[in-house]
Amino acid sequence: MPLRQSMRLGAYLAKQKIKRVEKFPLLVELEPLFACNLKCAGCGKIEQPHDVLKKRMPVEQAVAAVLESGAPMVSIAGGEPLMHKQIDEIVRQLLGRNKIVFLCTNAVLLPKHIDKFTPHRNFAWMVHIDGLRDRHDESVRKIGVFDQAVAAIKDAKARGFKVMTNTTFFDTDTPADVKSSLDGLSRLTQAVAARDDQLRTLLAHAHAVTGVLADNDEALRDLVTNGNLLLHEVIARRDAIHDLLVTSTQLATQISGLVADNRAQLGPALAHLHDVLTILQHNRNNLDQTIARMAPFIDAFTNVLGNGRWFDSFLAGLLQPYQPSVGGR
Ligand code: SF4
Repeated sequence: MPLRQSMRLGAYLAKQKIKRVEKFPLLVELEPLFACNLKCAGCGKIEQPHDVLKKRMPVEQAVAAVLESGAPMVSIAGGEPLMHKQIDEIVRQLLGRNKIVFLCTNAVLLPKHIDKFTPHRNFAWMVHIDGLRDRHDESVRKIGVFDQAVAAIKDAKARGFKVMTNTTFFDTDTPADVKSSLDGLSRLTQAVAARDDQLRTLLAHAHAVTGVLADNDEALRDLVTNGNLLLHEVIARRDAIHDLLVTSTQLATQISGLVADNRAQLGPALAHLHDVLTILQHNRNNLDQTIARMAPFIDAFTNVLGNGRWFDSFLAGLLQPYQPSVGGR
């Protein structure tokens, strides 16, 4: 029990002594329902008639009963208290009246309801564990409940809740059975506590990281600011590329239209150009033949004259007369 709660109980006991009260409650057990989601061997609660199992104690009645007892500690049992739709409200009101509250559960429904509760210095889950896996599952007459309970305990611890366990021993248990169960539960507690240490280490490291981030706040702000500038520049360039693509598309559309519009005029012009090229080709052939046929004459002519002065000569039909025949054949 934490020191704070021990001191509180010590003050309560001293007060009873001073007032010479001989009999007083230290802890009151509240059972706001008998219904349960398990059927443990030897449990008398679930043997109640059906109409009793359907009953739920109202919040006001539960709180008033605890206050009337005057006990500083409350153990809320059942049945399974998490099957009471207002169990979180009962716990809240008792904590509000400075009671130390233990909420008993077999933990099967804990994952479903844990979000309704918040850790409090005077609040603890009291998980029903009758031993290690085989013994517990046999006790509750359902395989897998031990693993569910252990997982729920780890989750509750990770969320910052205090968790205790209670174990039922039967008159058929031998001292060896009791010792074996308690040793096993002790090892389980140490394993969960070790996980607590890991979580504490993790939180300490997280705190250190937070400190480093805080120390570099200025640099981080600059980084974010520069990142924003870079992002704006990238966005501006993306927009420019987008505009270029749009303009290029428009230009391509206009060129396509221009080509389509002028196809009717360009077609005949290209046909005329082809005729001109045909005529030029034809005349180039004539020139080649003329030059080839002149060669023997020039040869004989120069032999006759040597290097003398000149004489006139007439060559009939050397060149073809010009005929403007574009378009005509
Ligand atoms: S979990 Fe508790 S109340 Fe439910 S059947 Fe088992 S012993 Fe009974």
